[in-house]
Amino acid sequence: MSTSLDLIRASERIVVAGHLRADGDSLGAAIVLARGLRAMGKQVELILPDPPDSRYSFLERRTPWSIYSGKGSLPDHDLVIVCDCSQLDRLGAMGTEIEILGSKRLVVDHHPFDRAVHRWDAEYHDVTAAATGLLAVDLLRELGEEPDKIALEAAFVALMTDTGWLKYSNADARAFAAAADLVGRGVDPDSVYRDIYQQTSAGTPRGIGAALASTEYLADGKAVLGWIDGATLRTAQGELVDTDEILDILRAVQSVEVVAFLSERGGRVKVSFRSKTWLDVNQGARQIGGGGHARAAGATFPEGVSIVDAREQLSELLEAAVSAGPPAA
Ligand code: AMP
Ligand code: MN
Ligand code: MN
Repeated sequence: MSTSLDLIRASERIVVAGHLRADGDSLGAAIVLARGLRAMGKQVELILPDPPDSRYSFLERRTPWSIYSGKGSLPDHDLVIVCDCSQLDRLGAMGTEIEILGSKRLVVDHHPFDRAVHRWDAEYHDVTAAATGLLAVDLLRELGEEPDKIALEAAFVALMTDTGWLKYSNADARAFAAAADLVGRGVDPDSVYRDIYQQTSAGTPRGIGAALASTEYLADGKAVLGWIDGATLRTAQGELVDTDEILDILRAVQSVEVVAFLSERGGRVKVSFRSKTWLDVNQGARQIGGGGHARAAGATFPEGVSIVDAREQLSELLEAAVSAGPPAA
């Protein structure tokens, strides 16, 4: 396997990609790399498999991206760089095209993955990094290129969204130091916070309220399951672009070790998992075809699985996972 640096140096036309429904980390990392590689004289296209949440439109105004527009639409390239996921299937149809084209591919990521299943020409990969955006900055600096102001802000977005503004268990000393360094270099944290978190619609609190109404506790309160279907959300005149707040509220309950929340996305049921101190939710997410980290993971159920079916399946999975308690130290 060649190194990430060799692969980038040898490539002139590069596609930089994020994952489906790109979050702040995926976007932030992709922006850092796209801007930096352009500054090095590379021809770079920043392409996302589908449109991200509108809360990130402030990033797009500074660094425009395009959305994959179907088979045959990828520009000629000699390298694809995938940010913040190590599985091409997390790029939907865009991933399938990359697979079929046999493009050279580099992954920049912090999710654990199975190397026997997912193959890359090079990996810039560190599961201990709080955010992929930080790895993107490191990679750029290893190439001898310093990120510009806009890239530094994107790296800050990546770090702060993936750590829940430095409050999740992945917020380690390196994450705090990186945040301080980025602010020291001119990033305005208050303005970034307002851009991401304080532009919601009036329907958002209504959506959160309707979703919290469904809460069901399992296994003596060690697990909690919440859900909302599209019809209930519409009746409540609610909106739900992001389930992070709901997951945080449920995880905050003292007895709770694990939260699962179900919602509908494009006709399919999506589940998000969060755990507090010991349960590896990545394992549970993998059992239903998803993945993620030990304390935050997700999956999308196959088409045709209803919220009721998914709830039943998850109740069993959660009961079994937490009943035994944490493994002996
Ligand atoms: P979410 O609950 O969607 O915020 O996701 C939490 C974590 O799980 C993130 O690191 C995601 O990248 C990961 N994740 C979410 N959905 C999937 C999926 N379908 N497959 C693999 N990883 C996922
Ligand atoms: Mn992500
Ligand atoms: Mn990430």
